[in-house]
Amino acid sequence: MQRKTVSDPGFDETVKKLTPEKITETINYVLEKEAAARLKAYVETCIHCGLCNEACHFYVSYDRDPSYAPVAKVRQTIWDMMKKKGNVDARH
Ligand code: SF4
Repeated sequence: MQRKTVSDPGFDETVKKLTPEKITETINYVLEKEAAARLKAYVETCIHCGLCNEACHFYVSYDRDPSYAPVAKVRQTIWDMMKKKGNVDARH
């Protein structure tokens, strides 16, 4: 399935103001403080069974494309940020 690019001028302008240091600092604050307990519980308990897929409107709306499954989205975002210890940029 071809993914659509969604334009968001407000988001795009905000991204331009980000520095690598600010991105890393903010991500690590969320990962280590703000959401640490919830993320730890999720990472330690999710067994990638896919039972939550049908509850996700993105997954259902995109013809059940596995890359839109909740666990796939988490792996592509939060887990990648955790693995890289917040050293990501606006694209990766
Ligand atoms: S894939 Fe979804 S339903 Fe399965 S363990 Fe992970 S969060 Fe729970």
